[in-house]
Amino acid sequence: MFCTKCGKEIENDYAVCPYCGANQKDVENNTNNQVEDNKKTQTQVVCGGIASFIFPIVGLILFLIWRTNRPNDAKVVGIAGLCGFVINVLYQIINLFI
Ligand SMILES: [Zn+2]
Repeated sequence: MFCTKCGKEIENDYAVCPYCGANQKDVENNTNNQVEDNKKTQTQVVCGGIASFIFPIVGLILFLIWRTNRPNDAKVVGIAGLCGFVINVLYQIINLFI
């Protein structure tokens, strides 16, 4: 591995750089924490993406099933599914800009 501060090559198990004294373990842990945070954020995005697909699809399926026998309920789930889809699309677009 290379020192995170001065860039000189050092042994992997060195906690402190022998050239400049920079603490290697702390930097490594901080990097790992950042990776963990990124993973959490990605998981949230993936879950949000799945929910944004499932909700309108369930709404559409219920709409098609109930359309003949329960037109009033079909209209409600159809509108709810459509609203869910629009809200989720807006949410995804907002996420892109934040
Ligand atoms: Zn160094």
